[in-house]
Amino acid sequence: MAKSRSRNRYQFYIATIDTEIRQRKRLEMDLHKALENHELSLAFQPQFNYQKGKLVGIEALLRWKHPEKGLISPDMFIPMAEHSLDIIPIGDWVLENAFQQLHRWHLAGYEDLRMAVNLSAVQLQDQNIVDHIAYLLDKYQIPPKTMELEVTETSIIEDIETSKIQLTKIKDIGVTLALDDFGTGYSSLSYLKQFPFDKIKIDKSFVEGLPENNENCVIVEAIVQIGKSFGLKVLAEGVETAEQESYLVAKGCQEGQGYYYGKPLPAQDF
Ligand code: C2E
Ligand code: MG
Ligand code: MG
Ligand code: MG
Repeated sequence: MAKSRSRNRYQFYIATIDTEIRQRKRLEMDLHKALENHELSLAFQPQFNYQKGKLVGIEALLRWKHPEKGLISPDMFIPMAEHSLDIIPIGDWVLENAFQQLHRWHLAGYEDLRMAVNLSAVQLQDQNIVDHIAYLLDKYQIPPKTMELEVTETSIIEDIETSKIQLTKIKDIGVTLALDDFGTGYSSLSYLKQFPFDKIKIDKSFVEGLPENNENCVIVEAIVQIGKSFGLKVLAEGVETAEQESYLVAKGCQEGQGYYYGKPLPAQDF
């Protein structure tokens, strides 16, 4: 009795894992076709400069609308695309569309508007990426300083030497560089010294609960100071309230991004 029960449980467990693996594989196959099926789109979120009192930048964020499952979070499908290497064509598509959209906004009179695009670890290791970015700058007549690429500490740690070489080349063509999700990776300070970043983005997990959360206040204040010492611009992610904004401004943070300024939206709704 006891034996057959534990065997049943074991079989149930295996069946569950099996289903999960199959669902994941299925999703990976669906993602492989998402591009040609036109299921991908970009959402754009404003970045606000406190000193200028205006919107200065926009981050492009990828969206996948699955035909049956609906919207799937990038935190879920980006790692899948990195694993299958579909991130290369998908990342190219993101870059092409972000550059094209920025070109349209520049033509519409927002000449100084800056576009931020997330670059995955796999893209950063791609030997063609630097030439490809130079090609897109030229194709869409984009002043390099209005294009910003965001990478995370986790992605540069995968191959520090190649990342350093690639990021330096990207920086050399005039594109600006931001270190995303700052504070959530490893040995942040040594990267700041070695890599040619222009900006750090304070992760939204530290902005949450400001100004009540004492630990987050200490962390945010420290990051702003680090930014100042290294001559880097500091942007806070995930700003949702006026109280968070006041705190950030008082501490000397230069820019903010979050639902308080606007949720990520399709270009036509901007
Ligand atoms: P990220 O680059 O750190 O982007 C910021 C995330 O915070 C976005 O999540 C955004 O929608 C969310 N966010 C913005 N303001 C607020 C706020 O006030 N409150 C809260 N709770 N969240 C806010 P999203 O769009 O789900 O993207 C998640 C992550 O997926 C991004 O984090 C980025 O790492 C990755 N990702 C998105 N698009 C791309 C892409 O085109 N390429 C690559 N490689 N990664 C991407
Ligand atoms: Mg980002
Ligand atoms: Mg981030
Ligand atoms: Mg993030």
